[in-house]
Amino acid sequence: MDAGQAVLVTGGAGYIGSHACKALRGRGYLPVALDSLANGHAEFAKWGPLVVGDIGDEQLVSSVVRQYGVRAVLHFAALAEVEQSMRDPVLYYENNVAKSVGLIEALRGAGVDRLIFSSSCSVYGVPERSPIAEELGTNPISPYGESKLAIENLLRACDHAYGLRSVSLRYFNAAGADPQGEIGERPRAHSRLIPRAIEAALGLRPEVAIFGDDYSTRDGTAVRDYVHVEDVVDAHLSALDYLDAGAASTVLNLGAGIGHSVREVIVAVERITGRRIPTRIAPRRPGDPPELIASIYRAAELLNWRPRRSNLDTIIGSALAWQCGKPAEGVQLAGERPD
Ligand code: NAD
Repeated sequence: MDAGQAVLVTGGAGYIGSHACKALRGRGYLPVALDSLANGHAEFAKWGPLVVGDIGDEQLVSSVVRQYGVRAVLHFAALAEVEQSMRDPVLYYENNVAKSVGLIEALRGAGVDRLIFSSSCSVYGVPERSPIAEELGTNPISPYGESKLAIENLLRACDHAYGLRSVSLRYFNAAGADPQGEIGERPRAHSRLIPRAIEAALGLRPEVAIFGDDYSTRDGTAVRDYVHVEDVVDAHLSALDYLDAGAASTVLNLGAGIGHSVREVIVAVERITGRRIPTRIAPRRPGDPPELIASIYRAAELLNWRPRRSNLDTIIGSALAWQCGKPAEGVQLAGERPD
C-alpha cells in the first residue's frame, strides 16, 4: 500500500488497536479508528481520526470506507474476556460474531479486499501438545474462543467466495506498553495478570488472585506465553505487506514461544519493582487451560517476523512505566541507580 493510504482499525481506541494506530502512522499510513468506546478510550486514538460507532453498523462502515478510501482493515474490535464469555455467551456471539459478519458484509460491499483479524490462542482449547502449532486441531472451550474460531472460518470461506484475503493472527497473551509511555493497557477486572501484579506492587490493589495452584505445571499455576504488544503490532504491519504482495490467506500464531507461570510473573514483577506482592489462591477459572505456549515458526517463515521485545523483563518494564505515567527509560527499577 502507498504512504498516506487509509487503514481502518476497528477497536482502534483499545489496548492493542491503539498501539497499531501509532505504528501505522509511523509507517506513513492514515489509521482510521472505529470504536464503540465500550472498552476503549477516546484519548488512545490520537494518530488519526476516531469514528465512534459500532462495527455492526453496515451503513457507517460503508461510509467510513468510502470517505477515507480504505483498502485494508485491521479488525481488533471484540469483547475479550474469557470469563465474561462463560457468563454471557449470547453477548459474545452477538458482539464478536454477528457484528463481525456485519462488518465483513459492509467491507465486501465497499470493495475492501484485505483484512487482518485478531484471533486468539483460545481457539485451541486445552491443547494436546505444547508448544502449539497452527496445524493442531482447534477445540475452543469458551464462547470467546468459539467466537474467534467462527470468524476465522467465515474469513476462510469469504476468500474462496469473494476474494477477501485475510490473515488471522492467533495472539497468545499480549502484554507490555508503548515505550514512549503514550498508551498502554488499563487493568481490567478479572484478567490480565501483569497490570494487576503491577497495581498490587504499587499498593493500588490489596493483592493478586492466583486462579488455580493445582494445575499440572511446574509450580501448579497456569503457564502462558506473553508477547509484547509492539511485537504483535509489528506482525500486523508485516501481514499487511504479505497480503499486499498477493500472498494467500492464512492463520498464524503470535507469541514469544516461551511460557511463564503465574508465580514466575509475580516474582518477576516483585524483582523489577522491588516490592512484595500479596497473593491469594482462588479457584481455577472456567475456560482456563493449564498451559498455552505458541509455536511461532510459521509467522517467522511467512512474515519474516520475530518477537524482539517479548523478554518478560522488557514487557514488565514497559507496562510498569506506563502505569507510573513515564516513558520506559524514565522509570527507576529496583536495583538501578538514579542518574
Ligand atoms: P480491548 O478491549 O482493549 O480493545 C477492543 C476494542 O474494541 C475496545 O476499544 C472496544 O471498545 C472495541 N469494541 C468492542 N466491540 C465493539 C463493537 N461492536 N464495535 C466497535 N468497537 C468495539 O482489547 P485488546 O486487548 O486490545 O484486544 C484486541 C483484540 O485482540 C480483540 O479482538 C481480542 O479478542 C484480541 N486478543 C487480545 C489478546 C490480548 O492478550 N489482549 C489475546 C488474544 C486476542
